[in-house]
Formats: sequence, C-alpha cells, structure tokens
Amino acid sequence: MTDNLNKTSTLVDKLIRPELKELKPYESARRLFSMSGSDDTNTVWLNANENPYSPNVSADPSLYNRYPDFQPEPLINAYSQYAAVKPEQVLATRGADEGIELLIRTFCSPGQNIIICPPTYGMYAISAETANVNVTKVPLLPSFQLDVNSILNQVDNAQIVFICSPNNPTGDVINRNDLVSVLEATKGHAIVVADEAYIEFSTEDTVTELMNSYPNLVVLRTLSKAFALAGLRCGFTLASEAIINAMKKVIAPYPIPAPVAQMATQALSEEGLLWMRRCVNELNNRRDAFIEKAKTWRFANEVYPSKTNFVLMKLSETLDANKVMTLFTEQQILLRNQSKQLMLNNTIRVTIGSEEEMAAVENVFNLIEQKLD
Ligand SMILES: *Cc1c(COP(=O)(O)O)cnc(C)c1O
Repeated sequence: MTDNLNKTSTLVDKLIRPELKELKPYESARRLFSMSGSDDTNTVWLNANENPYSPNVSADPSLYNRYPDFQPEPLINAYSQYAAVKPEQVLATRGADEGIELLIRTFCSPGQNIIICPPTYGMYAISAETANVNVTKVPLLPSFQLDVNSILNQVDNAQIVFICSPNNPTGDVINRNDLVSVLEATKGHAIVVADEAYIEFSTEDTVTELMNSYPNLVVLRTLSKAFALAGLRCGFTLASEAIINAMKKVIAPYPIPAPVAQMATQALSEEGLLWMRRCVNELNNRRDAFIEKAKTWRFANEVYPSKTNFVLMKLSETLDANKVMTLFTEQQILLRNQSKQLMLNNTIRVTIGSEEEMAAVENVFNLIEQKLD
C-alpha cells in the first residue's frame, strides 16, 4: 500500500506541471476546519461570510435523467432582470470562483499577467498560478483604497485587473472615481473585473451601469453570500456580449446542474428577492450594532467600517490573533484569522451571524475584555 503510494508519488512528481509543485491550495474556511473534528450541528460558523439563514428553495427530482441546458434561460432571464443588464450580458457559472478562473483561462496565456490589489480575496492569485499566469501585486493604500498611479504604471503588462468592491476582507467599497480612472486608462487594452460578491449589502455601490461606457468592465456576482446559497455553487459574470461569448468557448458544456438552476431561479423570484432583502436589512443592522459594541473593547485597536456581512478587527499588540482564534474555537465558534494578509497583521474577520450567534461571540469578547482588568 505505502509502496504503491510512493510509486505513484514519484510518477506524479515526474508528470505534474512544474509550477504546481510548490502551489498551496486555497485555505478555504471549510478546508481549514474540516480536519478539526468539529461537529457541524453545534459549531457556530462565522468564518466564511455565509448567511446564517436558509432560503425556501427546492428542486423537482423528475428532471435529473436529462443533461441540463448550457445556460438555463429562466435563470439567465431572472438574473439579467435582477441586475438590470441584458440576458446576453450574463454568464451563469459554478460560483463566482468559476467566473474568476474562466476569465483567466480565456484572456491570459501562460506567462502573461494579472494585477491584484492586496489585501484582497485569495482566489484571483490561486486561479492565476494554477494557469501559470503571473500575479502583479499592487497593494491598496493604507486607506484601503486603490493606488491608482501604481496600477496605471503596471497595467501595460497586464491582461486583467481584479478589483474587489466591497473588498473582502477589509469590508469597504472602492471609490468609484478611482475605478473609473482605471477603466479609462485601460479602455481597449485590459479587462477590469469588479468583484461584487457582497453588493447586496450595499446595493447603491454597484458599478454595473459603467458597463455601458466601458466595454472592458466585467462584474462578478454570486448567490453564496446575501442569497444564502453557498452550497448551491451558483454565480454570475456580467460583461459585454463579446466577453461573455469568449468565456462560453472555455466553460464546460453543462456547467449548471438542473436542480441548481431550478433553485437559483426560485431564489431570484419576487418572493426570493423579498426574502433576501429582509435578510440583508437584518444583517446590516446587526453588523452596525456589533461594530458599535466592538469599538468599546480596549483590545480592539481598530474596528474597520463595513458595507458587507463581515467585520474586520485589528487587535492590540498584547493580544495575539492566534490566541483569540483558539479561545473561540474552544467555544466551537469559528472566525477567520486574516493576519497573513498584507497590512493586516493581527486581524480577525467576524462574519455576522444570527442574533444568538452574535451574542455568543460578544460573550467571548467580553470575557477577553474583562481579563484585561
Ligand atoms: C465568497 C467570494 C467569492 C466566491 O463566491 P462563490 O460564488 O461562492 O464562488 C468571490 N469573491 C469574493 C470577494 C468572495 O468573498
């Protein structure tokens, strides 16, 4: 058995693409904790920006013997109506993550470049690296806004610029003027991707209408966050018809399973949207209350403003983020340590959960606060 495994490893070592050898897979919240033996039912999951509630959607089992439509029309129509774009400008994908991967595989050859602006979402770099595409990092300014001049200095070399707004894990929205400056300078040269995974928590900040003036703008969306359907794996790329058609050359022939299409379409119905908007209202209010509370804790050196369903906190130097993570894990509460990210030394990200979950979180933080006395 071990012998066979060893022989296979040697074979894999010989054949694997060299650029994959050193690559570490994305440490998704699920992967990080799936080994820890935590039991799902009692665990408070506040590490992946999921919605704590579940929408009322279901699929009809009688349809599974047939292959699904390539791009199910009811789903595409529902999303185009919701996002106020034409159906030709919508591509349904297996999560926004697949949109990221397809953009890179469609527009970047091995050895070409993308620009990312860290601290930001980790999958842009991982998708690029697995495709042997180089990642140019142009860090955000200390204000967590774009360093527009540096981006413009480096963009001649890049096929795609990824901009996350609202940004994960900082929680703030990128200034529209800065985005427009980047779009203006890259018109005809590069694609600018605005990742709007959290836009439902701050609808007025969407940039989809800029697609009319800037055919190089791509907007990524998902049902995983505000719509509470992370387990469904359904996201959308919004772009000019030419960009969508190019991506259709690369995407799998049956990307959206039939039950996923059915349930996603229900989530986008009038009733589904009402449900989602009620969740967003509730979570936004709870987030604002949590931020006010967190600002009173002396160990919280900084509580960053948020237009999302999560809050980033910088801890005082005397309190180690790893230690805080352990204290929470002992209470079966899972948060996300963001300390490895550029500029985010000793920070923790807290997803906004249900009222009970947030009470449990505040309890643990209150205990930490009392120990300071
Ligand atoms: C969660 C997230 C995604 C991925 O969403 P899926 O649709 O679940 O793949 C993409 N971008 C950002 C910024 C995210 O936080």
